[in-house]
Amino acid sequence: MDYQLALIPGRSCGDCTICCTVMAIDRPDIQKEAGVTCRHCTKEGCAIYATRPSLCRDYHCGWRQLAILDEGWRPDRSGVFVELELHEGQTAISLVLVGNPLKTVRQSWFIDFVATGVKGNLPLMLGIPGPPGHQGASLMLNTNAMLRAAATSRAAVKAELESELKLLRDYGFPPRVIRHIGHNMGP
Ligand code: SF4
Ligand code: SF4
Repeated sequence: MDYQLALIPGRSCGDCTICCTVMAIDRPDIQKEAGVTCRHCTKEGCAIYATRPSLCRDYHCGWRQLAILDEGWRPDRSGVFVELELHEGQTAISLVLVGNPLKTVRQSWFIDFVATGVKGNLPLMLGIPGPPGHQGASLMLNTNAMLRAAATSRAAVKAELESELKLLRDYGFPPRVIRHIGHNMGP
């Protein structure tokens, strides 16, 4: 399975503001803890959209860049925030479960994406956010066990995903220390 990185023409964030909550921001001109919604985030979107920091202006999640993800993968609708992560020298597609994780890993569209990706050597990770102010947890999905499950059945992939999710939930989420101060965008 192959993929290209470029903004998908015609695809926009719409009402989605998931990255304004999920991500930690630690820059000299803007700081916010992970899992804490930026104070400028409203139901209608960013209240300072025209003058938002360059970091926000330049950021696009994986769904904005990956044509292999269809419209249904918009993070606020799918419950999956897709990040592109450097892992052991390659760019992996990290599927961060920001909705109801157990429900998501039981969905056929999610299971089929993972099975097809793993069989096609697409570097895939599964992640969950930590509590507010803490790091999240993630692991690679390209394991021998997942490959065997993908070659067996949808039920086998679902069981493997559920067991990976259990491992993630047992992780001891360390605090994420914000180094910069002075421009806190938290509440
Ligand atoms: S998570 Fe993606 S789609 Fe949602 S607001 Fe951020 S960049 Fe846009
Ligand atoms: S300033 Fe940035 S993080 Fe805050 S709501 Fe606007 S786009 Fe989101």
